[in-house]
Amino acid sequence: MSINIQTVLCGMIQENCYIVSVPGRADCVVIDPGDEYPKLRQALAGRRVAAILLTHGHFDHIMAAGELAAEHGAPVYVGAQDVEMLNDAQINGYAHLMGVPGMDGPALTGEPYGEALSAAGLDFRVLPTPGHSKGSVCLYLQDEGVLFSGDTLFCAGFGRLDLHGGSVQDMERSLRALFTLPGETRVYPGHGEATTIGAERTRYRL
Ligand SMILES: [Zn+2]
Repeated sequence: MSINIQTVLCGMIQENCYIVSVPGRADCVVIDPGDEYPKLRQALAGRRVAAILLTHGHFDHIMAAGELAAEHGAPVYVGAQDVEMLNDAQINGYAHLMGVPGMDGPALTGEPYGEALSAAGLDFRVLPTPGHSKGSVCLYLQDEGVLFSGDTLFCAGFGRLDLHGGSVQDMERSLRALFTLPGETRVYPGHGEATTIGAERTRYRL
């Protein structure tokens, strides 16, 4: 099976939202709908969204999730320990960055992930990767050799550790675990360009 991965850059922080689908199917999943719902809606081009998958609870990854969920009746999944961040502008970073006390719009309801999730013909393994936030996850399509890494692993970097729930020790452990995946695994991060596990693990001594 091959899959389609479409990147939509969202918001002023230029977050990577991914629309992932199996060719020939009319549905898809959306990973980290960060902002700019009209742009995302256009990119979807009429496809039905079966599920919305969040890699973590920071505002720049979630701000279009409510509108998208409402339009498609789609469930929103997030790591259990990041559920509390979805509607709390103090801990999801929005208040700090925007200098305002709260976010606009209706409350966002997130269901915690299990170990795996199947939607739109795609079978994800959900890898808990705390460090950038307590509930950060990476979404792994093992058969495709594809990993959506959120703000855990970037091309030539990893996510900030100084935000709510951040932990150096957790990040070390999470990166070490990710670097056991096959080197050819394609990594699609929350910001910046795609990379591979093989390219990234050569940068660290873990
Ligand atoms: Zn983040």
